[in-house]
Amino acid sequence: MPDAAVAARASEATSDNTVQQVDIAVVGAGFAGLYLLHRLRKAGFTTVVLDEAGDVGGTWYWNRYPGARCDIQTIDYSYTFDPELESAWKWSEKYATQPEILRYLGFVADRYDLRRDIRFGTRVKAATWDQAAERWRLTIDRGAGISCRHYIMATGCLSTPKPPEIDGVNDFKGEIYFTGRWPHEEVKLAGKRVAVIGTGSSGIQAIPLIAEQAAHLTVFQRTPNFALPAHNGPAPADRVALLESDRAGYREQARWSLAGVPWPQNTVFSWQLSDAERRERFEKAWATGDLVCILTQLWADQGGDPDGNALVAELIREKIRATVKDPEAAAALSPYDHPFGAKRPCLDTNYYATYNRANVTLVNLRQEPIKSITATGITTDRRSFDLDVIVFATGFDAMTGAIMAVHPITGRGGKSLSAVWANGPQTYLGLAVSGFPNLFMITGPGSPSVLSNMIVSIEQHVDWIVDRLAAMRETGFTTIEATETAQAGWERHMADCSMLTLHRLANTWYTGANVPGKARGVMPYTGGVGPYRAICNEVVGRGMLGFRLTGPDGRQQCNDGEIVRLQPDVRLVLNMLAEMKLPPIETMGAAGARAFVAQFNAARPAGRPVGDVVDGTLPGTDGLLPYRLYRPATPGPHPIVVYFHGGGWVLGDEQSDDPFCRDLCRRSGMIFVSVGYRHAPEHRFPTAAEDGYAATRWIAQHAAELGGRPGPVLVAGWSAGGNIAAVTCQLARDRGGPEIAGQLLVCPVTDATFDRSSYNENAEGYFLTRSLMYWFWDLYCSPADRTDPRCSPLRGKLQGLPPAFVVTAEFDPLRDEGIAYAEALGAAGVPVEQLMARGHFHSSFTMVDVVITGVSGRARMAEALRRFAGLPQTMGPCGEDVRRDRNAPPPAVNAAAE
Ligand code: NAP
Repeated sequence: MPDAAVAARASEATSDNTVQQVDIAVVGAGFAGLYLLHRLRKAGFTTVVLDEAGDVGGTWYWNRYPGARCDIQTIDYSYTFDPELESAWKWSEKYATQPEILRYLGFVADRYDLRRDIRFGTRVKAATWDQAAERWRLTIDRGAGISCRHYIMATGCLSTPKPPEIDGVNDFKGEIYFTGRWPHEEVKLAGKRVAVIGTGSSGIQAIPLIAEQAAHLTVFQRTPNFALPAHNGPAPADRVALLESDRAGYREQARWSLAGVPWPQNTVFSWQLSDAERRERFEKAWATGDLVCILTQLWADQGGDPDGNALVAELIREKIRATVKDPEAAAALSPYDHPFGAKRPCLDTNYYATYNRANVTLVNLRQEPIKSITATGITTDRRSFDLDVIVFATGFDAMTGAIMAVHPITGRGGKSLSAVWANGPQTYLGLAVSGFPNLFMITGPGSPSVLSNMIVSIEQHVDWIVDRLAAMRETGFTTIEATETAQAGWERHMADCSMLTLHRLANTWYTGANVPGKARGVMPYTGGVGPYRAICNEVVGRGMLGFRLTGPDGRQQCNDGEIVRLQPDVRLVLNMLAEMKLPPIETMGAAGARAFVAQFNAARPAGRPVGDVVDGTLPGTDGLLPYRLYRPATPGPHPIVVYFHGGGWVLGDEQSDDPFCRDLCRRSGMIFVSVGYRHAPEHRFPTAAEDGYAATRWIAQHAAELGGRPGPVLVAGWSAGGNIAAVTCQLARDRGGPEIAGQLLVCPVTDATFDRSSYNENAEGYFLTRSLMYWFWDLYCSPADRTDPRCSPLRGKLQGLPPAFVVTAEFDPLRDEGIAYAEALGAAGVPVEQLMARGHFHSSFTMVDVVITGVSGRARMAEALRRFAGLPQTMGPCGEDVRRDRNAPPPAVNAAAE
């Protein structure tokens, strides 16, 4: 639609000088605003949509630069709410151009007759909550303003361009363009000397096309980005066939996937593949030309582990070197400063090959920063470039910028949103902000938004909000507001989720790092689209948990609380286990339970490679005991850690904690010898304890034979294995050795008492249950023996024990006895450190490569072991060496909460 026509209609809408009264006002007429309007209307709400632009389109209205396309395949980047709409529109290409996407949005607006409720060319200048009226008052730049019950920001995540931040922009006498505000009339670049500043997605899409037109193109690059060939063309037959074979199923799968596009979850880890197999996978993904594919389908550790990620990054850099003929340019174009995917990778068409053209120059701003823009061009600190045109592809004040741009937003008690967000956005679910009743955001900071297929996320938000508004109307509530508790809980959950991916490690617009002075932090939700949807549904299922609703008659409803207290990956594991509807382990009998554990362990990710794994036997008190030895790949001899597996003295064996032993062996750089002690009910108390002690003594005596460092050993154990490790330390002290340099107790059993709070709070629902613990105790030890320190070490003498690192998990029945043991050790003068792992469960740390948020805890365990062993350096969370000040005191004793 021509702008003039739109403007005429918009002014008709505002010719009335009375304040417009509506149920709901929406800012933004892009993908989000249009669907919102459609749904609100269908639900019977009077609605007005406001947009500064001359027509529908949102970000697609403004971003008209040459080469602008979507980077999610268009069959996925489409509305899914109406099957008839889906069959009424056919995309012409795999990645549609901006004009085609804009035509699509126009088509949608026409089909549902949306334009009549949109006021184009209208800017909101202020929004103020009127507590008495329980309405938002909007001041706009044309007309008398708007009064609405609810105010919804559908302003998009990437719609407010950031300022150029380079001195002298106003001095330039040539033409200046911003990719994010490209003119509607044709921009003629033929025969001109053009500069592009910025090599993000916008620059990378525009550069090849500008190079074809311009006499000369100079690209000013500050940070190189990863770009992949889009291989554009018709939509790929396999994806179309997948969609068309079951359209509803495909869409539903997208809604529950991690990124909003249905691709299977990868379960193979990089270390399980040979170089050739990795390359084959990579080449296949490269040929697919799909961001979600290459970001998720190579190997399971590519997105969350720096080592797995580095393998992809290097394969891409190889592609860059193979394409760009000038080695200096190739080096400058190769990203090294961020993990692949931590910054949005770009989809390109001939981007790298463009640098082989004679009319293209790359200026590496890391070597020669821009000094200023002058009347005639750009001056770096080495040279000057005469230019006719400068194109700024310098990006956006992302996620918060567009919301802040319609400031001031003043909430309850005169609270200003910019003040509340001064240190970074705080939201509940990315949907609402405490202190701002009846204000919602679509794909706001704190929701998956830009880390997902935006359309899937938009539809989810819109549906959730409209359903809530309709429910409020039915129940007579007039206001809804997030509570502070819920919001603080969400912030914590966001921080927990940010540990699942590598986004936190890069300076990007995801983290606010691209805008000088902006608060830093991962702004989008990194926990995935499906898990996020489940959480939003759970909020509703739990009576609008974390929202306060009020009605005119003084009625209130507020189920306050935090929606997710578990670590995000722990939540996924527990949900998965709950869905399996397993019978309680204690009902399986010992043989059945052992078979179950074997089956369960067979399905977990294989542990990572270590230098050497050796199986052997050692003499116990009553015959041979099996062991498995894990040796680091680094030169020895290494200190030895004697390890005792978990399993309630009944289950498991020397191999059953294999991934955990491998991980700690790698991180600590020590030999781990996992001992196959004997089990109940065949061998009841004190067999396991005595086996543990005997094995430790033998290993200490034969350290050199085992390839280890002679001298004191260390002990470690998880769960019942933690019990055996603790007992071994007491026995070694009392029976004349061996010397033990330190003990690592992970969620240990320390006392046969079941009245501590954690036994009740975490009795069920966290895999290790109270009744399972009762069963273990019954099989292992008769009640009369349970006060013996060889099964309840908390009841023993604690003076003179080796230094300890005690790990407890918040959602573990054993939590409080672990804490009690650490406190008692401390009281007895034993140096002790505690790691109280927030949001974790009993198995968090042994589920290596499943519970990713356990990584930092295991890194700390390894650090503690190294310290106990007197090793001079420690290793960082991801295995990298981190020098520590050898003169610095060890970390403060006690109670670091993770
Ligand atoms: P961007 O990714 O933030 O890239 C901006 C570029 O400008 C970066 O290379 C940045 O360098 C550079 N820059 C910024 N300020 C600068 C300065 N003062 N001096 C020199 N260089 C400067 O922005 P974008 O390219 O517009 O893309 C933003 C996001 O929009 C994308 O990540 C994507 O999600 C979306 N988008 C998608 C598509 C698509 O393919 N569908 C197209 C365009 C945009 P530094 O990295 O050093 O800061």
